[in-house]
Amino acid sequence: METTVSVCWFRKDLRLNDHSALNGALSSGRKVICLYVFDPAVYPSFGDGSDPRTSFILDQVSEMKDKLREKDSDMVFRLGKTEEVWEEIFDKYDVAAVYASHDYEPLEVQRDKAFSQTCQEKGVEFVRFHDRILMGPEDALKDDGDPYLVFTPYKRRFLENLKADSGKLEEFKLSFENLLGFKDKHYPAFDGYEREQYVSLYPAKRLSGSMLDDYGDKRDYPAKDATSRLSMHLAHGTVSIRELSRRALNKSDVWMSELIWRNFYYTLAYLMPKSLSDGFKDGYNRINWVNDEAQFERWKKGKTGYPIVDAGMRQLSETGYMHNRVRMIVASFLVKHLLIDWRWGEAYFAEKLLDFDLPSNNGGWQWASGSGCDAAPYFRIFNPYRQQERFDSKFEYVKTWVPEYDRDTYPDPIVPHKEARTRAIDEYKKALG
Ligand SMILES: Cc1cc2nc3c(=O)[nH]c(=O)nc-3n(C[C@H](O)[C@H](O)[C@H](O)COP(=O)(O)OP(=O)(O)OC[C@H]3O[C@@H](n4cnc5c(N)ncnc54)[C@H](O)[C@@H]3O)c2cc1C
Repeated sequence: METTVSVCWFRKDLRLNDHSALNGALSSGRKVICLYVFDPAVYPSFGDGSDPRTSFILDQVSEMKDKLREKDSDMVFRLGKTEEVWEEIFDKYDVAAVYASHDYEPLEVQRDKAFSQTCQEKGVEFVRFHDRILMGPEDALKDDGDPYLVFTPYKRRFLENLKADSGKLEEFKLSFENLLGFKDKHYPAFDGYEREQYVSLYPAKRLSGSMLDDYGDKRDYPAKDATSRLSMHLAHGTVSIRELSRRALNKSDVWMSELIWRNFYYTLAYLMPKSLSDGFKDGYNRINWVNDEAQFERWKKGKTGYPIVDAGMRQLSETGYMHNRVRMIVASFLVKHLLIDWRWGEAYFAEKLLDFDLPSNNGGWQWASGSGCDAAPYFRIFNPYRQQERFDSKFEYVKTWVPEYDRDTYPDPIVPHKEARTRAIDEYKKALG
């Protein structure tokens, strides 16, 4: 057996700065090993190695390996089943404690429950920190201890608690002396992909002061480059939520609110995991969906005959990203105009979005369908023409993605707006009794 070590187990927190679990490990008084396990069971939607999200992870891990090697250490990277990788680590090292950031999604929660049991049996400490979000699920509850189901009072409590405990915003300054000196075996996964091919898909991490100043006024216009494009980085923890929140709190309440929405959805996913598969509100599970597969295909391809919907769907399939305003429009359109089950749309987004993140995606879809806990009311049906006039009046966004929108070759609307609206309201009324 070698020296007793602490392991920092990286998951969706892929960075080496301002990191609470890494700080915990480095301050433990023991030598520290960094580990990343790519377990296909936890990333089922990421498909094979050609998925850009897989390569994003490999990219970040390989950058972290380089940085750790400069410090005469390394990061152990393994592709395989979590429990098997851990067997190897426990065989090789005398592990006293494992430090990690909390995860909130059901598969990950299950994985951690099983791992926690293993640690208990082995007498290893398993220490976790809320690092992906600022406020842990149980840190902003109602006075009676129940979770908030409505965003505005949740946000109020969140900000009160933050004011009372400003330590939550403090940066963890890391000192790396205690890293274990070692070199991990060469892993072929790092040979198999062309980094350049993907790098353009991940906009640099940026959060400029002027973006924050203008965010409230400009964020809803999809042709403007007025949002941070940090979602993919937040989904994998390559930026620190504390750093972003400190900047947001000083500059933009509106942008801070978006980070709190994310925190709200993570909280609900963790405390009420059932709401991830079923409509949060029961009546919405009785909706008689039409689920027309041909119409679903036209929606996916961006051929519905509604320019703003088609532009969004084409932006998604060509880039893996879609502007938030347009996500709301296309989601509402699928669920209400076409009466297609929101879970179909949710699954398609999960397959395509580079920033896919289960709680936010589910939250967005349930918001649009009306079934979420703090969702759009069922009778609020976005009129795609009106949305076009308000948010892309000069068709700048549409022209980028649907250049033929004003030509004869462009299809007629897949369903007439007025009739679709009436049908949706009738169907929702029936289901909700
Ligand atoms: C149907 C639907 C599905 C969605 N799926 C996802 C998803 O899988 N992953 C994802 O990260 N976001 C999702 N969103 C939320 C939002 O659209 C994206 O976070 C945002 O467009 C990302 O762009 P940005 O980084 O420039 O955001 P900014 O406007 O700069 O916002 C900053 C950050 O706040 C968070 N955020 C912003 N809006 C929301 C929101 N409404 N809900 C939760 N978090 C938010 C994101 O982490 C984002 O990066 C979805 C929204 C809808 C309506």
